[in-house]
Amino acid sequence: MKRADLLTTLGTHPTYDLVVVGGGATGLGVALDAVLRGFSVLLLESHDFASGTSSRSTKLLHGGVRYLAQGNISLVREALAERAAVLKLAPHLAQPLPFVMPSYKWWQTPFYGVGLKLYDMLAGQAGLGQTEWLSAAETLTALPGLKSQGLKGGVKYWDGQFDDARLALALARTTERAGGQLLNYMNVEGVSSLSEFRADGARFELSLSDQREPGTYRVFARSVVNAAGVWVDAVREQSLASSGQVAPGRIVTASQGVHVVVSREFMPGRHALLVPKTQDGRVLFAVPWMGALILGTTDTPRQDLPREPEAFDAELDFILSEASKVLSRPVKRDDVQSLWVGLRPLVASSQATEGTKSLSREHTIVTDANGLITVTGGKWTTYRSMAEDVMEACFDSGDLPRRSGESSQHHVLLGAIQSSIGMTVCDAPGWHLYGSEEAAVRALPGAERSLGLGLTEAMVRFAARHEYAWTVEDVLARRWRALFVDARQAMSMAESVAQLLTEETGQEPRFAEFMELCRKYF
Ligand code: FAD
Repeated sequence: MKRADLLTTLGTHPTYDLVVVGGGATGLGVALDAVLRGFSVLLLESHDFASGTSSRSTKLLHGGVRYLAQGNISLVREALAERAAVLKLAPHLAQPLPFVMPSYKWWQTPFYGVGLKLYDMLAGQAGLGQTEWLSAAETLTALPGLKSQGLKGGVKYWDGQFDDARLALALARTTERAGGQLLNYMNVEGVSSLSEFRADGARFELSLSDQREPGTYRVFARSVVNAAGVWVDAVREQSLASSGQVAPGRIVTASQGVHVVVSREFMPGRHALLVPKTQDGRVLFAVPWMGALILGTTDTPRQDLPREPEAFDAELDFILSEASKVLSRPVKRDDVQSLWVGLRPLVASSQATEGTKSLSREHTIVTDANGLITVTGGKWTTYRSMAEDVMEACFDSGDLPRRSGESSQHHVLLGAIQSSIGMTVCDAPGWHLYGSEEAAVRALPGAERSLGLGLTEAMVRFAARHEYAWTVEDVLARRWRALFVDARQAMSMAESVAQLLTEETGQEPRFAEFMELCRKYF
């Protein structure tokens, strides 16, 4: 449904079974699961879909080798099953990726190799390939650009990688196709529980404000899921305060993670590099993605929760110096084509004593006295199983009748076909990212007019007409990952994108704001 039509009916819509606050991986997963069970669902996102943490991940579908080392077997097993599920549900946006851990000490290959054999065993049928021991020569063939001095060998294992923002979009559009309603740029200002249930079952009233054009709205719901990522505490505190209650402490603590992007020339090829232990005990990845190379990440506790967090100098220095230790060509600040910063929602724990690395990566679900259900934590890979747990909480609260419906495990996402030419998200961005929708996009005007980095005029038109895009940033950061791959090139494409968006939507596409955002990168 077009945004204008949805807004016209919003105020008069009967009570929704479920309203979801937040359009990141978590909220979108819940919305799709609920729609497939036959519930009427409205999802509200204050900014753009996935514009919070969900477009700023390392883009890996993984069981979590690190959690294996911590002995968290059940978390790893669940995530490995979910890794396989996502690869099946969106084969155009998620593919297996081989990783290599180089060894510079004789004991590292057997030590890490045994752990990764256990990883294979836990994956069972969901495994993507066998862990292999590599000689030094084989390691260098897999990772050209790796420092050869002192190299003893390596271990190769498999995980998955994906396009996080486009997967979020596919979830949103699949939810809509299944009958759900979704609005981006719609802020939830208030979630009030009604003093008594209305005759139609409404328990909540939500007040909304449109961020795109002036307008406020009220909607009613039987059940509300707060999936606002690192911002869940604000929604929860407001909701409880409106019924005269005080939130019993914060659920989330945030950890900032920075990634930088450099040319693929630093490490050509189609294998990712994992350094299991940097100087301060972290993990460092060098991952080929969208024709470039991602280096990251960091884990810095952060008390404030800015929408657009900036990288600290120490974080950039850490990534560049750790990467330079393992790559044959040192990486300098001038080599950075782009960077992004995300805030991990970690479940707050009173036992946390030494920074956020020790906090839980698992999700938590809290049902408050007023019926509000809050979900946070977890990871992208497990969005689907988290959604199932959230639905269980909705049933347990008694606000929604228990229903099974179609399982989200078998409902493939819009566009789901494997590229016939073997292109993956590892390669430079192109038509393959549209999967089965490629022909529909090519049918729009401007399919042959290139705007840079694989983007065409037709793709921008498709983004505006079918992918909820409004601003230049929506297109150049999330519908197409130009800003994430090369910020300077994204700037040079912005004017053409702005003109097309204005033509398509009739609205001002925030060109100046986008240029301002890009300038922060340099
Ligand atoms: P978000 O994506 O932040 O979504 C919450 C949304 O709620 C936001 O879009 C926000 O705008 C919206 N919102 C807030 N308040 C309101 C309101 N009042 N009204 C309406 N909307 C509101 N996981 C993996 O599986 N693999 C990885 O490789 C990986 N790498 C990571 C690397 C980093 C650096 C980080 C930070 C995380 C990584 N993760 C990874 C974890 C994963 O990205 C997150 O767990 C996941 O994206 C969280 O999604 P979310 O929907 O809970 O939060």
